[in-house]
Amino acid sequence: MAKLVDARDLKSLDLGHAGSIPAARTTPRLEASLTLDLPLLPDRTCGECVECCRFIPLDLPELAKPTGMLCAYCVDGAGCAVHAIRPQTCRTWFCVWRIVELSDDWRPDRSGIIVRPDGLTTGEITLYVVRETEFLRSDAFFETLASWREQGLSLAISVPGPIGTLPVRAVVTDYLGPALEAGDRPMFDLLLANVLMSLGGHPFEPDGVQPRFAVPGAPPVAV
Ligand code: SF4
Ligand code: SF4
Repeated sequence: MAKLVDARDLKSLDLGHAGSIPAARTTPRLEASLTLDLPLLPDRTCGECVECCRFIPLDLPELAKPTGMLCAYCVDGAGCAVHAIRPQTCRTWFCVWRIVELSDDWRPDRSGIIVRPDGLTTGEITLYVVRETEFLRSDAFFETLASWREQGLSLAISVPGPIGTLPVRAVVTDYLGPALEAGDRPMFDLLLANVLMSLGGHPFEPDGVQPRFAVPGAPPVAV
């Protein structure tokens, strides 16, 4: 079970009416069993993006890689070198950019955000901010989040820690929602920066994943 991180560990910031930064949790270990049976958008490919092969931890019998470590089977900027024989989890896990009509700017290697698929069917969107980019301060980002709030979706933000540690995550619907609903960009930008700073300052827990690259039929990999 995921360990709750004490909210008192979070940095204390004066946020006026916005209240305190939501408590963060360490994300549960692994996605080994996560599969999502949602149709992919036709005519959309990952292109040069390999962010899930870097930032999503895997701990499968045939493939284990710590969070933040690029899979040894991945060619950076090109994709999976063992595509035809990749593990089942790799065949069924896709970020939301492959599932929902989001602009090209949202592609994770451009935006720095992997929109996670878990929670999609229950009305919660998790933005896994793997890198801070200008996109976080763009109109396209703000307007998309505002439209998700209009649709009643919950929002969560997650960030990775150093390589080999579990990401942390906080539900931010109540914290960011009012600024989104009011169209208040300056307030939203300030609150988002606070969330990212607070999450980034967490004591990250080791993910305990020992690298293992043993996909049957794949060339041997030294670890
Ligand atoms: S993060 Fe999304 S777009 Fe990028 S490689 Fe993974 S599934 Fe493809
Ligand atoms: S086996 Fe291929 S698809 Fe799976 S994590 Fe490694 S590079 Fe990515």
